[in-house]
Amino acid sequence: MGNAEECPVCLDLIKNKKTLRCHHSFCSKCIDSVFRLKPACPICNTFHGVYRGTQPEGSMAVTRSHQSLPGYEHCGSIVIDYVFASGVQGEEHPNPGKQYRGTARTAYLPDCPEGEKVLKLLKKAFNQRLIFTIGQSATTGLNNVITWNDIHHKTSMKGGPQCFGYPDPGYLTRVQEELRLKGITEDL
Ligand SMILES: [Zn+2]
Ligand SMILES: [Zn+2]
Repeated sequence: MGNAEECPVCLDLIKNKKTLRCHHSFCSKCIDSVFRLKPACPICNTFHGVYRGTQPEGSMAVTRSHQSLPGYEHCGSIVIDYVFASGVQGEEHPNPGKQYRGTARTAYLPDCPEGEKVLKLLKKAFNQRLIFTIGQSATTGLNNVITWNDIHHKTSMKGGPQCFGYPDPGYLTRVQEELRLKGITEDL
């Protein structure tokens, strides 16, 4: 592009150049307006902000079990318990003022270094309110319920992918990609 750089947003020559950490450059006015919608680079989708979700008030507890998961026989497992009380939807939810019902979910990870790494990312995602949201359940069709928010969990120890369980050799890689798409990475 030479030194007369074109802004990928307005397709004009860059004015008041702003270069992001990913090394892509824009007019400062153009990138500011993009970031108001979503703090991500429009070229490479790198996140440049903290993505916060609409997960309601709840808790995430972690325990360890000696029981191993199919495919990870050499180690025990990490057991994650999510608990949400019933409440009233806020402004950020689909039906503010309407009630939603509480729920409890349990998920499993292998207690190995990669499982530990995913656990750390899930904790970060939980703190940014990204693991759950309120909406319509894909499985029951019920509305105003607490649902998963596109970060897949293994809610069963066994049975394979059909039962949301193990063995599933690609799971730990896939879930890290799902987390990355929500801006949750190790180095942020
Ligand atoms: Zn521009
Ligand atoms: Zn970029």
